[in-house]
Amino acid sequence: MKNVGLRIAQLFVFALLAVNVALPQQRPAADLIVTNAKVWTVDSERPRAEAVAVIGERIVAVGTAGEMDAWRGEKTKLIDAAGRLLLPGFNDAHLHFVAGGVQLDNVDLREASSHKEFAELIEARAKRFPKDWITGGDWDEQKFKEGRLPTKELVDPFTADTPVFVNRYDGHEALANSLALRLAGITRETKDPPGGVIIRDAEGNPTGVLKDAAMEMVAAKIPPMSRERRLRAVRRALAHAARHGVTSVQDMGPSNADLAAYIELDEKRELTTRIYAAPPIANWQDQAKVGIRRGFGSAYLRLGALKSFADGSLGSATAYFFRPYNDAPKSRGLLSSDFIPLTKERQRLQRSDAAGLQNCVHAIGDQANSITLDMFSEVIKTNGTKDRRFRIEHAQHVAKKDFERFRQLDVIASVQPYHAIDDGRWAEKRIGHERALTTYAFRTFLDNRVRLALGSDWTVAPLNPMLTIYAAVTRATLDGKHPDGWIPEEKIKVAEAVEAYTMGSAYAEFMEKEKGSITPGKLADMVLLSDDIFSVKPEAIRDVTVATTIVGGRVVYNRD
Ligand SMILES: [Zn+2]
Repeated sequence: MKNVGLRIAQLFVFALLAVNVALPQQRPAADLIVTNAKVWTVDSERPRAEAVAVIGERIVAVGTAGEMDAWRGEKTKLIDAAGRLLLPGFNDAHLHFVAGGVQLDNVDLREASSHKEFAELIEARAKRFPKDWITGGDWDEQKFKEGRLPTKELVDPFTADTPVFVNRYDGHEALANSLALRLAGITRETKDPPGGVIIRDAEGNPTGVLKDAAMEMVAAKIPPMSRERRLRAVRRALAHAARHGVTSVQDMGPSNADLAAYIELDEKRELTTRIYAAPPIANWQDQAKVGIRRGFGSAYLRLGALKSFADGSLGSATAYFFRPYNDAPKSRGLLSSDFIPLTKERQRLQRSDAAGLQNCVHAIGDQANSITLDMFSEVIKTNGTKDRRFRIEHAQHVAKKDFERFRQLDVIASVQPYHAIDDGRWAEKRIGHERALTTYAFRTFLDNRVRLALGSDWTVAPLNPMLTIYAAVTRATLDGKHPDGWIPEEKIKVAEAVEAYTMGSAYAEFMEKEKGSITPGKLADMVLLSDDIFSVKPEAIRDVTVATTIVGGRVVYNRD
């Protein structure tokens, strides 16, 4: 009896302590509570919940609606999710942020379906801004009913005083009008630069289309964007990201002026999306000199990564393969100028890695991927093992033998599933069926325990994460010809796509302890969706929209 009495007394004390801990006045009130939600946390400790409490910019508690009530105070802002799905904010691991903002501001040739329509859109722009360079555009000749590349003759009649330099949607080709070619000094005598091609007609005259490194010749003549224009572009990009639930972005190849704009907006506390910037490798010493290392910076703006290019793109037939293109038997594609000669890139990788910078290398073709893995392996041998998180951007066509090497070398595959449903329309014409089997091979990467980070490659593809997830889980090409999926064995599940888009991308930027899941202590970056992407039909995922976007506990977008 005595013992039982003691036990009861002990239990009573424990119960008192427990109640005490749970008393609301014992803890500060939350600034924000999202309740009545279907919370998908991407945290294996507590995968599902109903409510989240936030103080300042961080999550303080995750649990049932009842548990979160204890965090309510007089000033707590309450968001009733009405049973909708709450996810960690999306982290787009590969995009071009300023270009995105500029695109929202530019002539838009993406939907042009004929040479005539293409020309009319440029004519309208030239009338509105006759002195400004017409740039951007993102045209796709595969959408033209002619199916052929545009030529300068299409636009010359109304652009005698307006320089035109509009790029293909993948950024690897662009059309210059006669004025722009003249400003760049390109004539029929001009030789193709290394890593580039000046397309010519039957008589040997430039048609206006320039490929890869040849584009630089015109690009170099475009006057720099003003500071105001750039700030406007970044603000537009930020608003667009907030609208789509993108709470973090990893910006590939920003210029110093882009960085200056980010810094200015960070100081003004105007950044509503967190930015991790990977400037071009050519400038690696700029960061190394002042001791910037991977992940350096504030909660909103971080540096310490580098972007370089191994090759071009599949669309422009400049992706570098072991074997020739099926539709161009004399070509295996091109290595990019960063990789010519290979010793230059090897040295830059090695030195920047030794300086503590993170390297992200664009590789599309199977041989480009293989060469990049070889180089990574050499750097590891020379500089020793450490937590460096090498990344291959795109990792698009991978030789069978190389999937395992991604894991062995701990290389992150930073992939953009939307390209699969876009390029999937015509990729087999270019590379044949067998090579297509290991193309955009997301399932194979996961099966090989390779870490995936997801992104859009905006502006090459739309920023909207719903389209990325839709693409990853359906692989249904945009032309409707593969409703059950193009190479369906490579589909991944919604949960896998969400994890790669949140934790996977956070890991890829050394931020997995700070974000990527809805976990107490982490930054309160979350997105509330209109519908439950785990229960709607896969084909309906693309129609799901964002209701509310929260970054650091702040509501940065609210549809209602
Ligand atoms: Zn890109």
